[in-house]
Amino acid sequence: MKSLSIFCCLIGFVGLCRAQSADLPTTREMNLISWQEFQEFVPEKIETVLLPVGTLEPHGVIPNGADNIAPEAMARDLAPRLNAMIAPTLNYGITGSLKAYAGAFAISEEAYQLFVSDILSGLAKNGFKNVIILNGHGGPQTAILRSLISKASEKHRVRMLAINWWSLASEETFAVFGENGGHAGNNETAYIQHIVPEHVHPARYSADMTTPYPANNSWSAYPFPSSIGLYEPGQGYPTFDANQAKEYFQKVNEKVYALISDVIEKWDLAKLYRD
Ligand SMILES: [Zn+2]
Repeated sequence: MKSLSIFCCLIGFVGLCRAQSADLPTTREMNLISWQEFQEFVPEKIETVLLPVGTLEPHGVIPNGADNIAPEAMARDLAPRLNAMIAPTLNYGITGSLKAYAGAFAISEEAYQLFVSDILSGLAKNGFKNVIILNGHGGPQTAILRSLISKASEKHRVRMLAINWWSLASEETFAVFGENGGHAGNNETAYIQHIVPEHVHPARYSADMTTPYPANNSWSAYPFPSSIGLYEPGQGYPTFDANQAKEYFQKVNEKVYALISDVIEKWDLAKLYRD
């Protein structure tokens, strides 16, 4: 087949060449792939799908869609290495104490649960064996996703993993910034700055746009008074440093990649849902 490939390249039938050597899909995005190509790859050659989920809510001086932009870029970076497809991003989620801010958007928990449950069923029915949710948004959404994957996994006998990247990458935050992070803090701002630097606006930033999260249930405010919530007082302010942004983006993705690879390897080793 190799000599045929070389031959047809030489005579210019590039399309035929591609058709002859279909080891890789022409795209990893479910939005872009055709049903015919999908059928050729899933699940025979591609067993894993990455599903980015987030929400729309204020994030200091970075985009309202930061929770969608981050896991989507992460999925694009990791999909080739994980041999995974990328499901369309779920851009709407459960926004809580930041709901009152301009441009924020909230889906009810009831609607979200039903909708995400159907998305997970759809991915399982399309043949994926490993469904990996890359979640960009905290609050109740994390617990709901955890519960949904346990139900969907049992129901469809498909392995499922949900990742909250900002928590997973806590060590990387300390490694790059020398301190803890925050919601729309140094960590999230850097990650987004590396993806869409033109949509990060340092000139609009001031330190009084930040509030440390209350320790040990000491108080609660609704709406939360700042869109930048610091995990610890005095730490986590955005740095807007392009080099840190690049380093952090890469380190976070390495951490997420390592976790997904490890979990899939161990699922395989245990032969879970392989019968
Ligand atoms: Zn966020």
